[in-house]
Amino acid sequence: MDFSILTIFPDIFDSFLSHGIIRRAIESGIVSVNTMDIRNFAEGKHRITDDRPYGGGAGMVMKPEPLAKAIAEAKKRIPGSRTILLSPQGRPFKQSVASELSLLEGLIFICGRYEGVDERIYKTIDEEISIGDYVLTGGEPAAMIIIDAVTRLLPGALGGEDSAEKDSFTDHLLEHAHYTRPPVFEGESVPDILLSGNHGAIADWRLESSLIRTLLKRPDLLDSKILDSRDKKVLKRWCEYIEQIISA
Ligand code: SAM
Repeated sequence: MDFSILTIFPDIFDSFLSHGIIRRAIESGIVSVNTMDIRNFAEGKHRITDDRPYGGGAGMVMKPEPLAKAIAEAKKRIPGSRTILLSPQGRPFKQSVASELSLLEGLIFICGRYEGVDERIYKTIDEEISIGDYVLTGGEPAAMIIIDAVTRLLPGALGGEDSAEKDSFTDHLLEHAHYTRPPVFEGESVPDILLSGNHGAIADWRLESSLIRTLLKRPDLLDSKILDSRDKKVLKRWCEYIEQIISA
């Protein structure tokens, strides 16, 4: 997977790219990352990338020419790359979108700043993506979030573990509870079943934990989940339990 990031602040990415799973993915060639300074594609002594909005009003707008040139340059690396404008007005980013993007060969991210980009750049982008219903000062954190979520889905990125398969939002569930040493912390013990060595019983406990956490924290996810008879049995038992508490 080849990521190109178009930004006026390329240094922001230095730390992000030099730690943990992302660093390892770069070192092992699972991903390549190309941060591009949009200023290098701007004309004139001052390499200006923004200007005042036509029609007046507050703020500045990113000029289209440097962006178009930077996108064209990025496309030379992987011609079929998908060009994504980070924007609060875009398609909401979710795990399913991360999975979809992880199948592509290349992604080009355009990090907006100020009031955003000149409208005429839209014909050169493939889509807008938003990381949530709030407004950031720039697209850089959004690019990092998407790169992080996509990279961990790439084969080999998690170092041979299969943990991405059971992560939250896979199959419309949140992940089960986790425990590690010590066996007792502040008087609270690890559930006996997790110490039992009985893999079947542990798998059942984890499924139940996953279903209950989803029911309590994100019941909306269950609307899209196809529940099998075992899921239904677990949820029914917990709903009855909750009902007992309410009516006591
Ligand atoms: N004036 C724009 C609006 O109201 O739609 C907001 C511009 S914002 C201050 C500057 C840049 O931050 C945007 O061009 C975009 O690249 C990025 N950005 C802000 N919020 C974002 C979000 N929720 N998701 C993705 N990118 C975002």
